[in-house]
Amino acid sequence: MLKKVFEPIKIGNLQLKNRLVVPPMVTNYCNTDGTVTERYIAYHEARAKGGWGLIITEATAVDERGKGFHNMAGLWSDDQMESHSRLTERVHQHGGKIAVQLYHAGRQTGSHITGVQPVAPSPIKDPTMDETPRELTKEEIKEIIEKFGDAALRAKKAGYDAVEIHGGHGYLINQFLSPFSNKRTDEYGGTLMNRARFAVEIIENVRKKVGKHFPILFRISTVEFVEGGLTIEDTKVIARMLEQAGADAIHCSTGVYKTMMYVIQPAAVPHGFSVSFAAEIKKVVSIPVIAVGRINDPLIAESVLLSDKADLISMGRAALADPELPNKAKEGKLDEILPCIGCVQGCIGRLLKGLDICCLVNPSTGKEKEFAVEPAKEKKKVFVAGGGIAGMQSAIIAAKRGHEVHLYEKGDKLGGQWLLAAVPPSKTELNTLTIWLKAQLDKLGVHVHLKTELNENIIENENPDAVIIATGAKPFVPNIPGVNLPEVVLAQDVLAGKKDVGQSVVVVGGGLVGAETAAHLANHGKKVVIIEMQKEIVKDGEPAVKYFLLKDLQEHNVEIITSATVKEIKQGSITFEKDHVMKEIRDVDNVVIAVGSKPENTLADKLQGKVEKLITVGDALKVRKAIEAMEEGYRAGLAV
Ligand code: SF4
Repeated sequence: MLKKVFEPIKIGNLQLKNRLVVPPMVTNYCNTDGTVTERYIAYHEARAKGGWGLIITEATAVDERGKGFHNMAGLWSDDQMESHSRLTERVHQHGGKIAVQLYHAGRQTGSHITGVQPVAPSPIKDPTMDETPRELTKEEIKEIIEKFGDAALRAKKAGYDAVEIHGGHGYLINQFLSPFSNKRTDEYGGTLMNRARFAVEIIENVRKKVGKHFPILFRISTVEFVEGGLTIEDTKVIARMLEQAGADAIHCSTGVYKTMMYVIQPAAVPHGFSVSFAAEIKKVVSIPVIAVGRINDPLIAESVLLSDKADLISMGRAALADPELPNKAKEGKLDEILPCIGCVQGCIGRLLKGLDICCLVNPSTGKEKEFAVEPAKEKKKVFVAGGGIAGMQSAIIAAKRGHEVHLYEKGDKLGGQWLLAAVPPSKTELNTLTIWLKAQLDKLGVHVHLKTELNENIIENENPDAVIIATGAKPFVPNIPGVNLPEVVLAQDVLAGKKDVGQSVVVVGGGLVGAETAAHLANHGKKVVIIEMQKEIVKDGEPAVKYFLLKDLQEHNVEIITSATVKEIKQGSITFEKDHVMKEIRDVDNVVIAVGSKPENTLADKLQGKVEKLITVGDALKVRKAIEAMEEGYRAGLAV
């Protein structure tokens, strides 16, 4: 099934063993002075061991004043080189090849990070940022061009195999390329050729300093999706100029900060979303083209290559989810690959909050040392109550450490609430995690007891050494008059297929569960209204996920009523108060309750003091996002 992805390829003089690339992803793992940390090195080392053809580091600042994140790597000073050398050495020890991505944030940063006013081709504030940048003088433009060249030379001396110049995602070079942000009237603005001049001079400067044979990649946003921004036809012209200037490969992404959802690409974005743009670039250049964009499966990577739409494939989040993807794919173990599910909770979701990245499905991402699974000193009998994702995760880690593990699930299936979360539109990929976890339990010989609720009797008879409580949460039912009518159903029962609803439905609660249940019903032809107490729905949702969910609700004519309190449910109607006025919706077939959940942890209370080691994880402890449940499950597996 997989052949083309494992064909070697050259970028300039750099020979790569396969066509699978880890693209740049900001981690926030580095020191604030731009030196790289042991954590950053271990993260890359895991991917080098995993067999990727090329690893490209996160955006690495060429100027301290061009940093976009507090803890990002830098190569603006010779003092930073030693730490980078340690990184390249460790990657090379495992046969990996590593390029550094060089960048300047331009207007997409702020003085809270750099201490100075941001700079840009023109004094126009980015729509997503707080500060108006200062227009760069021509002298300053020349200085920044030199800084790119100097940083590239440092990279070469530090042992990197190539450099990538970041000309995409709305950062400084992109700001010059784009008429959206470049309003200059000198030789760096106006025409396409003028707007590309900054990028071209950077490539020429880098080439002059690193020599003829050192590979230079260039990353570009092929389309920006903003009014007046770069189109694919503009970018095709630019790509030819970049090749002419000395670039050895073009890395084709999409979007800028304003259209961040197309950079982030949550699960609602189709697989290979940006591939067609890479294919357009490939038509006009003769250097390798790298495609990217929610390609989370090596089979899709293979098809893109076979279709001749690109020469290499970047699989960023797939590499966070499973650093071993290439090795497993090469050995034909496709079932063993842990897939990225497009949740964006751990990676970009955290980055946008200024935090370090991690991964929901793979808690060891960025914690390669801390979460290393070592054999337990003493084999123990470990019981896990609850077969949701937190319970399965803890059972897997405990079993990997050599313990005898028994997993008890009162239902007839593993997966818990996660199975329901996978039902709404564009959430099906959540099931791939359930399938992977189940396969691991099987492989590791975990004793799974379905339709069996772990209780005090079993504990007394079996006497386990440790018990992990992962019993999840149960839906909260509000005290509204009429809530016990037969027409009133729980969102969880609707998603589980236990309850049918009629044509006209009101969903009470506009959190993620309520809004996704509404989307599910509306996509299946129902007329749906959401009533939410707060001012907005999906208040705490990941912004990119929320964007596509709201779009879906709007496209399916779901009516959203916010700042409203439900007062009474009657057969065929629901009454609510908004702006001190009582209102009624009539001809309602069903009311769906989705007002949150509360921990289900009665077993934990009963077992206090009765077992040697008792750990509660996930929603059973406190109802939160799945990423916390997975990490706690992992930690519990390490702790028993
Ligand atoms: Fe993929 Fe979610 Fe992991 Fe990000 S956190 S890499 S989207 S599975």
